Amino acid sequence: METLLPFASQSVGSRHRRIAEQFDAVNYDAFLVTSLPNVRWLTGFSGSNGFVVLSQDRFVLVTDGRYRTSAADELAAAQCPAELLIPTEFGNELYETLLGSFESVGFEANDLAWNKHRSINDAVPNVFLVPTTNVCETLRRVKDDGERNLLARASAIADEALEAVLPMICAGVTERDIAAELDVRMKKLGADDSAYDTIVASGPNSALPHARPTDRPLADGDLLIIDVGARVHGYGSDMTRTFVIGGEPTPEQQRWYEAVVAAQQAGVAALEPGVEESRIDSVCRSVLADFGYEDAFIHGTGHGIGLEIHEDPVLSTRSLGTLHSGLVITVEPGIYFPGVGGVRIEDAVAITDSGCSTLTNSPKTLLPSR
Ligand code: ZN
Ligand code: ZN
Repeated sequence: METLLPFASQSVGSRHRRIAEQFDAVNYDAFLVTSLPNVRWLTGFSGSNGFVVLSQDRFVLVTDGRYRTSAADELAAAQCPAELLIPTEFGNELYETLLGSFESVGFEANDLAWNKHRSINDAVPNVFLVPTTNVCETLRRVKDDGERNLLARASAIADEALEAVLPMICAGVTERDIAAELDVRMKKLGADDSAYDTIVASGPNSALPHARPTDRPLADGDLLIIDVGARVHGYGSDMTRTFVIGGEPTPEQQRWYEAVVAAQQAGVAALEPGVEESRIDSVCRSVLADFGYEDAFIHGTGHGIGLEIHEDPVLSTRSLGTLHSGLVITVEPGIYFPGVGGVRIEDAVAITDSGCSTLTNSPKTLLPSR
C-alpha cells in the first residue's frame, strides 16, 4: 500500500476566498459557518465544537480551550490563514464582537439550531441574519488532488480490510463478528475510524438496505451484503460487495448477482463529464428492468462522498445536475426481496476530465473464497 501523504499536503488552500468572492453577489456581508464538516473543509479543524466567521477582511475560527493546541496545529498543517479565537465565554459579547459590525450575516439554515439562532439574534438585534443553503456544500462537490488522494487511501484501506476478513466468512460466524473485525482491521491499517456503521447483513437481513449487524450466525446458502468504508483525515470511502455462503449459489442467486453486477458496470461505464446525473440512475435501472427486477431496486443509485458519507450530488431519478470532473461518487444498484435476501454492489468512482477512475477495487466474486 502507498505511504500516506504527509498531512501538510492536505492544504485547504484558499477555499475561504472562494466564499468571500461571492459576497458581491449575495445579500450578506459576512458568513457564519457552523456545520462542522464545512468548518473542517475551510480550516482543517477537526474538533467537535467550533465555528467560522468569514468576511472580506476577516477569517476567524472560534473554538474552546480544549482545542487550543490542536486547533493551532491543524490550522498550520492545513496552511489555513484563519485567525484562531478561544473566547473565555460563548455569550452575547462574543457575537457582538464578531458580528456586530455587519449589516447582514449569512448563516447555514440546514445546520444552525433554532435556539442558537435566537441567542445570536438577541446578541446582535440590528444585524439581519440571512438563511443560506449549500454555500460550502456546492463547492465541496469538487474534490481537489489532496482530497482525492485521501478518498483513494480510505478506499484502499477498506479493500485491504475486506481481503483480510474474507477467510473468516463461513457458516457459524455472526454478522457482528465480521463487522467488528472489519472495523479493527481498518483502524490497524491507518484509518481514523470506519466511515459509517459497517453493514454486514446475512440471509433475510440482506434484504434490508441499511441493516445493522446482528448476532445472527451465517448459514450455508445465505446471501451476505458487506458495506464498508474507512475514514482517513476526515474523508470516508464507501464500498459494497455481496457473497453467497458455502458451496455454490442457487441459479436464482446467480441471476440476481449477474443482474446487479451488469447494472453496476453499466452505471460506471456511463460516468463521464457532461452526462446528466439522472442518466446514471436510469442506466442502472434499465439493466435491472431487462432482468425483470426494476421493482426490487428501492433506493437511489449513488451519492457524493467526502467529509460526509452522503454528499452532493445525489444520483437518482430526480437528479437535475450534470457530472463534471472532480466529483467522487458511488454507483450502488441493489435488489431486495423481503424475507429472502438482497444483492448490492457499490464502488466509489472519481470523475476525471476524460471519464472516471474507480477507487474501490475489491474483486467482485459471489464466493468469498475465490
Ligand atoms: Zn455503502
Ligand atoms: Zn453509498
